[in-house]
Amino acid sequence: MTSSHDKNIKNLSQSLSDDQPGQREVIVRINGVLPDKRRLGNQQTSERYAEILQSGMETNTSCSIFIRDTKQNTLDSDFHILFDLGEGVIGSVEKGLSDLGMEKYLSERGHNQSNLHSTPAIGSPLLLSSPSSNTENPALQSRDIRLFDALLISHSHEDHINDLSKLILRQNSIADHAPMNKIRAYCTRTCKEYIMKDLLSRTSLTRNNIEECIDFQVVTPNEFFNVGPFSIIAFQAYHGIESSDDAVIYVVNILNRKIIVGWDFLSLPEANESILWNPDLLILGTETYNQHPETGMISITEAYDLVRRWNAKECYIVHYSGLKDIDERSNQWFRGPVKPMSSAELQSTIDSHLKISGAQGKFRIIVAEEGMIWTRQGNENLQPTTSDKVESEIGSSIEIESLERYVLKVENDDKIGKLRLVIEDNINRYDMVFENPKLEKGKDNNYTLYALGEKGMLAKGPDLVLELVKDLSVLKIYVTKGRKAIFHDDILLGKNEMNRFEQYLILNFE
Ligand SMILES: [Zn+2]
Repeated sequence: MTSSHDKNIKNLSQSLSDDQPGQREVIVRINGVLPDKRRLGNQQTSERYAEILQSGMETNTSCSIFIRDTKQNTLDSDFHILFDLGEGVIGSVEKGLSDLGMEKYLSERGHNQSNLHSTPAIGSPLLLSSPSSNTENPALQSRDIRLFDALLISHSHEDHINDLSKLILRQNSIADHAPMNKIRAYCTRTCKEYIMKDLLSRTSLTRNNIEECIDFQVVTPNEFFNVGPFSIIAFQAYHGIESSDDAVIYVVNILNRKIIVGWDFLSLPEANESILWNPDLLILGTETYNQHPETGMISITEAYDLVRRWNAKECYIVHYSGLKDIDERSNQWFRGPVKPMSSAELQSTIDSHLKISGAQGKFRIIVAEEGMIWTRQGNENLQPTTSDKVESEIGSSIEIESLERYVLKVENDDKIGKLRLVIEDNINRYDMVFENPKLEKGKDNNYTLYALGEKGMLAKGPDLVLELVKDLSVLKIYVTKGRKAIFHDDILLGKNEMNRFEQYLILNFE
């Protein structure tokens, strides 16, 4: 067993050494985390408010998603989508671009006056010598108009569009109105109408001014659309009775990474849950800790459920105010938080909840702050195997994520001949132990693993047949006791997971 084990690992690492995948990375920047400031209370009622005043970080909820080529640094491969444009967002994005060392991107992009597929002007001088000169440098200001390639708007509440008028004025002050320089703004049709109405009533802008500057792209919920290299789908979001019906959340796919930008919703009436399953990053807007549907938003209590339901291992919390949690003070039996908490306090409340509920280590929920950065390498060529590291780490236990619904855990204890199988979906958790596992190799490199029920004090447990059908990328699992099926389902696996599982079977049972 040991020698074939070693040999297999060697073969695997050899086949992996060539053909390194691309060097592109996905970056998410949290530009701001605040709800409408009127919903924060004041210094007397809210520690959270006092904390915000002190930090000076007062930007409304927004994030940026970039893709960047870490190797070539050409502009072709860079792309920046901005999500929502409430108060303070322009300033925060400018700071972000400079923090990320993307001034070059900014100035050259502006210089080149083109949009999605520009090539950099060779030898063009860097217009920015120091990041802080950004606003004072008039030469730059006349060019530096493209902070992002596309703007996606979740809904038309003020705290999500407030800076739009600023951006238009800025754009308007630049003489060149080439169509390529228009701001590409994506939102639902209703949202667009509200934005127009809002801009016309709140600012001195005319319909003409607006149309010269913004190129609106209508988003239809439940339909995938492309923005540059990104593939995106919007789901209609119910944002409370007092809200208009224009709200959506966005699921963003880029380089085989999935990011959910989900704030300002109470429920998602038509969402396809399999598309929400297993994101790399989930960003959730939660107004309070305890449930307060009157805010039109989910609470952190509900975020705990969504994180499990969608198997979101990393979740950022934004849009927290906590003010409504004060209502629970009148209930003497209430044991949860009854005040707006500071970020640190909120974080430790979340951490201890995860610990108690046993989800610690599996799910990370982070109270996001303005300026926070999340990065991942793009999974560009989905090779049969992801990396040397993963392969050589295959041991006696494995965790597999299916394409839909399930997370599986298999643990093999050679010494006592036992096999443990845990199958979890968003409702159920099966935790079963079997004995004497035997692997059979069938036609077309398919495998079947048989194991018997564990003998207990009074009765024998159910038996297991687990079949890996490679052509279909399916793992068929039958757990039966006599004639009764305890668990029976065909579980769809991605290529990577299927190959990992095959290696696991070979290394452990062959
Ligand atoms: Zn809102």
